[in-house]
Amino acid sequence: MKHNDPATAIQDILNFGEFGGVNPSITDSSTYTFLAADRMEEIFDHEIEGCYLYSRHWNPSNRYLADALAIMEGTESAQVTGSGMAAISNVMMQICSAGDHLIAGKTMYGGTYALLNNYLPRFGVETTLVDITNPDEIKSSIRPNTKMIYCEAMSNPLLEIADIPELSKLCIENNLKLVVDNTFTPLIISPYKLGADIVIHSLTKFINGSSDTVAGAICADKEFIDSLMDVNSGTTMLLGPVMDSMRSASVLKNLHNLHLRMRQHSRNALTIAGGLKKLGIRVRYCGLQEHPQYELMTNMMNDNFGYGGMVLLDLGTKKDAYDFMERLQKRKVGYLAVSLGFYKTLFSAPGSSTSSEVPEDQQDAMGMSEGLVRMSVGLDNDIERSFKIMVEELDAMGKLHTHTT
Ligand SMILES: *Cc1c(COP(=O)(O)O)cnc(C)c1O
Repeated sequence: MKHNDPATAIQDILNFGEFGGVNPSITDSSTYTFLAADRMEEIFDHEIEGCYLYSRHWNPSNRYLADALAIMEGTESAQVTGSGMAAISNVMMQICSAGDHLIAGKTMYGGTYALLNNYLPRFGVETTLVDITNPDEIKSSIRPNTKMIYCEAMSNPLLEIADIPELSKLCIENNLKLVVDNTFTPLIISPYKLGADIVIHSLTKFINGSSDTVAGAICADKEFIDSLMDVNSGTTMLLGPVMDSMRSASVLKNLHNLHLRMRQHSRNALTIAGGLKKLGIRVRYCGLQEHPQYELMTNMMNDNFGYGGMVLLDLGTKKDAYDFMERLQKRKVGYLAVSLGFYKTLFSAPGSSTSSEVPEDQQDAMGMSEGLVRMSVGLDNDIERSFKIMVEELDAMGKLHTHTT
């Protein structure tokens, strides 16, 4: 192990419920009683360990989940939010004020793209989009008012890998925060241990894994998390994207088998990507040696969780991409749906769905083709069967005979 194994660290958590329950009790309360009036005054002044005031600020169930995620990422502290977008927007609004500037990798989740390009400019926050794999471009984009470099550890939908140690150096030299969205690679990449300041997750995806809830998390040092929660000036305290206790309790239970799921997602994705590649289909998977950042990924990743569950195919045209997805759904390989990290394979055409917020000329600039199919490969027990169906359908579409001798 290059670092303390994050899955083992989670396994070691001991949190008893009331009456010795093996799961922590769920706190089904928005507010908390005080035996002494001056104690309430005290807690408005500063946090007191184990004392709760009001559930938008902190509640015990969210604390259990946040603490577990902090342990997973190796950060001092964490906070959970009602969605991944809430985590992203709150971090940006906590760090940036009117007149500030940030630098972001240009391939990213469509919602984040829209936030940076359409929404934050309303508040005087400007963004420069860069090729996150090009350090010179990033360096030359830094301005005196730049506050942050933002990227996805593995980018959506192009699956580019950010060189986190290199970006971290650049951030230290220029007094910037490095904020990394680790949604595609939980357990696999540990951005904080590699030098990021803040790690963000959409818990909606792999971490929860059951596609039954929307949730997010921010992992960072205690000073930053406390600043988000400050009753007078904290962004999450004042914008209020609080997660519900019932949901955080259920996400926490799913977190405990994340390592098994990631391993299976990775194993299945490698089978699909490697197999389709051999048949001459254009495939992008960071576990294939031809991936431009294969070596970087191999050096950065933790052992034993594989290269993740996300595979990108390019079928050339939108018509073929749509046709293929409809065929796969009919044959029960998976669902034609956005999102990721589910037990079934999910597939979508990013250009017209999860990245539709990105204008077409920008999609071209990113290298996105209209024939892309993004797959979140599921937990199939028999992935060979799913692979065989994919091959049959590609064959039926005439996609396997492009190499005539
Ligand atoms: C889904 C996603 C988000 C947004 O998360 P929500 O939970 O849907 O708000 C952010 N980043 C990435 C990479 C995502 O895949």
